[in-house]
Amino acid sequence: LEPREGLVEELAAVVGPNNVLEDEHARADYEVDWTGRYKGRARLVVRPGTPEEVARSVVICGQGGASIVPQGGNTGLVGGAVPVNGEVVISLRRMNRLVEVDAGSGQVVAEAGVTLATLAGAAAQAGWRFGIDFAARDSATVGGMIATNAGGLHVMRHGSMREQIIGIEAVLADGQVIGRLSGLLKDNTGYHLPSLLAGSEGTLGIITRACLKLVRRDSSRASALIGVDGPEQAEEIVNRLRQSCESLAAAELILENGLSLVLKHQRRERPLPEHPAYVLVETASNRDAETELVDALADIGVVSAVLAAGANEQRRLWELREGLTDAISAVGVPHKFDVSLPAGRIRHLMAKLPDLVAAIEPNAVIVVFGHLGDRNLHINVLGLGRGDGRVDDVVLRAVLREGGSISAEHGIGRAKRRWLPFDRSRADLAAMRAIKASLDPRGIFNPGVLFA
Ligand SMILES: Cc1cc2nc3c(=O)[nH]c(=O)nc-3n(C[C@H](O)[C@H](O)[C@H](O)COP(=O)(O)OP(=O)(O)OC[C@H]3O[C@@H](n4cnc5c(N)ncnc54)[C@H](O)[C@@H]3O)c2cc1C
Repeated sequence: LEPREGLVEELAAVVGPNNVLEDEHARADYEVDWTGRYKGRARLVVRPGTPEEVARSVVICGQGGASIVPQGGNTGLVGGAVPVNGEVVISLRRMNRLVEVDAGSGQVVAEAGVTLATLAGAAAQAGWRFGIDFAARDSATVGGMIATNAGGLHVMRHGSMREQIIGIEAVLADGQVIGRLSGLLKDNTGYHLPSLLAGSEGTLGIITRACLKLVRRDSSRASALIGVDGPEQAEEIVNRLRQSCESLAAAELILENGLSLVLKHQRRERPLPEHPAYVLVETASNRDAETELVDALADIGVVSAVLAAGANEQRRLWELREGLTDAISAVGVPHKFDVSLPAGRIRHLMAKLPDLVAAIEPNAVIVVFGHLGDRNLHINVLGLGRGDGRVDDVVLRAVLREGGSISAEHGIGRAKRRWLPFDRSRADLAAMRAIKASLDPRGIFNPGVLFA
């Protein structure tokens, strides 16, 4: 269907003329993703300021025959937030108000466009912490994090975004608003709609507000970078720390080629002698996180590690991990994989990857890092053409052979939809399609995302 005439005027009457972007330059930022891999064309960008404006915009687009791409901070890594072919982008970024921060109960009601950094700052001011954190914190939004069920650095302790949601509000394809934000901690009244929307990638509805839980703010934190002889030893150390170190909050894997890349990119000195791999660990507690970490490392016989002395050095250590994505992107546009594996399978996959990739492109460079505490690897392959899908096939099939998941935390988007049928069963896919068809029968939300 061609969008009918008058669409711009009708939308402008709802959100104001300044919030309907038609001009090519004004649209440009909304049409390309963070990696530069996904680029399309939006017919318009609409920027509503309230849930009601979202609902009315959705109805107008639906009546006008226009498909909709919901967009938050546009930091997603699977091409799910960028338009392809003349859709209307509904950007939630203007909806950036913290509606309520309840310091007593440790609950926040936030609009969908509130960034992770704003949310974390408000939580800290109220004497709490938000359980999710990751490098895109300055741009990633509450709505986007729910829609992708974002993970990040502290999933091993606090769970993923789904576990932080107490209540949700969302606009469906017919403009109806579902959910509630009353902060009920127990609510077994039928299907749990927040869970359904978490990870729905903008295909079922537009999240407008959410009630989120906050977690305890530990007074003491400590970090150490441990040198290890490879992924196998790294996994072993993390397993032992999980058993013995109650305050373990994060455990990240970095391989030597990734560390070299980020050191060069950030023009920094090597923090400890060269090893094949490293584990960056963090402890957080209300006692003495540093002593707890040092004791735990000594107990399991770690011999090569550097402990960050104080908050500044901790931040510097974490910049190494968080700078990896930027350092890789500075070299080229990578093929990115975000996979998770069953216990003990990381080393099998890592052993096979070099040969599998070299068979396609001998000069390709593989940079692997990830959230080891969740057995979640971010595999980046540099040196292949953007449109070259061969490496995607080879890597994802290898992950599936190891019993893994082709998407641990970034979602399916457009990037991984071709492989979804190999990961999920026919029955699973039929149930997912039935849900999509009943909530969005005309398929106006995010066409081409999740399902091919
Ligand atoms: C440097 C860097 C590091 C990252 N690290 C991590 C990490 O550690 N863990 C992790 O999980 N992710 C990570 N990401 C990926 C990304 O930041 C997350 O997926 C994030 O949750 C996306 O939020 P966003 O607001 O940018 O969403 P967008 O990119 O705008 O959108 C992502 C998806 O959600 C949908 N969507 C957005 N807003 C809404 C809404 N209000 N209602 C319905 N659907 C919506 C979009 O249509 C799209 O499908 C990283 C990204 C970068 C660039």
